[in-house]
Formats: sequence, structure tokens, C-alpha cells
Amino acid sequence: MEAHLRRCIVAGPCSAESERQTLETARALTGKINVFRAGIWKPRTRPSDFEGVGAKALPWLAKVKQETGISVATEVANAGHVERCLAHGLDVVWIGARTTVSPFAVQEIADALRGTKQKIWVKNPVNPDLALWLGAVERLERADLTPWVIHRGFSVYHKGPYRNAPQWQLALEFRRLRPDIPMLCDPSHICGKRELISAVAQHALDLQMDGLMVEVHPRPHEALSDPAQQLTPDAFLALLEILVFRRPHPDSFEFDAAIAEHRKHIDRIDEELTQLLCERLRVVEKVAELKRRHAVTAFQLERWDELIHKRTVQAGTLGLDVEFLTDVYKLIHEAALERQSRLMNSETVAK
Ligand code: PEP
Ligand code: MN
Repeated sequence: MEAHLRRCIVAGPCSAESERQTLETARALTGKINVFRAGIWKPRTRPSDFEGVGAKALPWLAKVKQETGISVATEVANAGHVERCLAHGLDVVWIGARTTVSPFAVQEIADALRGTKQKIWVKNPVNPDLALWLGAVERLERADLTPWVIHRGFSVYHKGPYRNAPQWQLALEFRRLRPDIPMLCDPSHICGKRELISAVAQHALDLQMDGLMVEVHPRPHEALSDPAQQLTPDAFLALLEILVFRRPHPDSFEFDAAIAEHRKHIDRIDEELTQLLCERLRVVEKVAELKRRHAVTAFQLERWDELIHKRTVQAGTLGLDVEFLTDVYKLIHEAALERQSRLMNSETVAK
């Protein structure tokens, strides 16, 4: 089946562990997916972790393709991996999150693929660095390749319930800058636990992602890598049944008219919000002048505490997400402190 369709469904085990497990998984998914995935060189945090079976799994993937007709994909991290994959006719290779962070490694892979027209996917780097992700894509494009990307979440301090925080905003910014590049979402590595996967997968589809990459293992509890996040084939097929694939564009005048009204309303609210933020900043400037005259520090812990307390109580009463409002106020407060600091020190700095 053609791998590069929009709404591309990719599934398979985190790692190919044995020929039997690889084929068993692929057989269970036949007819339901576009591309079969299986990692064979696994970048692991500790050298004592299972690091994949290596090149001996390449014939297993070739057999999956031959037997089921499904396109096959694996992760590559260097030129040696690329050469072996090309020799075994893999349909797609992908660059993992730990490799995207290294321009040298990405360049090496791009050079090894130059002139091949090989399909290649680039996972986002582990850290939330948009330029690094775009840069990896550009290196491949300079080697005449047309990469797709995979959003698999980011390693950040505040991960919430996830293994890798989705930071959807960053993925959407990628899309805004490169609307020509299809983006898949890997809810397995975002979630880290299977219970969270369906909600994240649906959200990704609702954000117009072009497909999903999901880890599936016949016996997840026995998996040699990522046991907590892999789904059984049955659970995965059930997930495909409940996911709603909505259209990116409407084809109804009624929709167009109604949404235009709501958007006008939202624009008015946003205008007011911006106006209010501006007014707030003017007051902050007066506070800065006062603090400067009295030689008081810009940051005042009790005031910050009081402000957050008041606003979160209000958010709770209004049914607003308290965590969201706290994040908004952290940004507002940070900007206010920056402005105060600049005003309070402008003379000192100028001297
Ligand atoms: C994987 O897909 O198995 C993998 C290692 O993913 P990531 O590079 O997103 O960590
Ligand atoms: Mn994995």
C-alpha cells in the first residue's frame, strides 16, 4: 500500500524482538494500516537496556512486506543503518527523537540517502526546539528528499501526565511554517501509558495531523522495550474504530456563515483582551517608578502569592481551568517584572 497518503496509519511493535513476534503483529494488522513499524536499532538511555536485535531483523521486515503487502519502516541513526535498510528495500526510514537533536548525525543520514528518493520521516527532537526540527528537515531537503515529520512530544520539566509533553503549540507552529509537510502524531511516545493514548490520538486528528504512529505488541507486558505504552492488536483495532476522522474543510454555507459570526465575536473579545493587557502594563510602569524611588525589588513574593491565589479562586468559581490560568498569569507576571526591571535600571544601565 502507498505509504505517503494523507491519513496514514502506522503501527507495529516498539522493537522487533523475534521473527515470530514481528510477523504475528503484522498479520494481526493486515488490511488496517498503511505502514508497519518496528525498531531494530534502539537508542536507549542506559547501555544495560535492550538495544534492539539489529540488522538480523531486516529480513523479518522484508518478509512482513512480502507476506502482507504492508509497507515497512524502521528507525535509522547513522549511515550504516541507512545502507542496510536500502539494501533490504525498506519503504520508509525514520530519524528518532534522540538523533534529530544532532545536526552531524542528521547530515550523515541525509548524505547516505542523497539521490535515492527514499521516504523518510523525522521525529521532533527530544527538547522543544522548533529550529532544530526544521533544520533536520532542511538537511534532508538539500539531499533532494521530501521528508514527513512525526510529533512525539518533548522532554520538559513539567510533563503533566505524559512521558513526553505534547506541546501542541510547537507542533502547530511547525505546521504554520511548513504547511507543505505532512505531520503524523505518535501518541504512544507522548503518553508513555496505554490508558492515555485514545484521547491524545483523537486530539491529534482534531488538530489536522495527517496520521498516527502507534506501538502495538501481541503481548505488551512481555515487550522488551516500552511495555507500558504498547497496545495489543485488538486494543489498537478497537481504537481505530472509535477514532473520528473529521474533515479539515467544511463544504456548507451554513457552517461558513455561523462560524464567521462566532469569529467576529472572538475577535472583539481578543481586541479587548489586548487593550486590557496594555492598560495593565501602564499601571505596572507606575508601580516600577514607585519601587525605583523607594529602592524596593521588582519581585515581591507576597504580592505574587496573593495575585495567583485571587486569580485561581476566581478561575475555580468561573469553571476555568486553574492550571491554564496560572500559566497565563506566569507569562503576564514575567513580562511585568521584565518591564519593571528595565525601567528601574535604565539609568544604572545607561551610566
Ligand atoms: C520509537 O519510535 O520506538 C522511538 C524510539 O521513538 P522516539 O525516537 O520518539 O523516542
Ligand atoms: Mn518505543
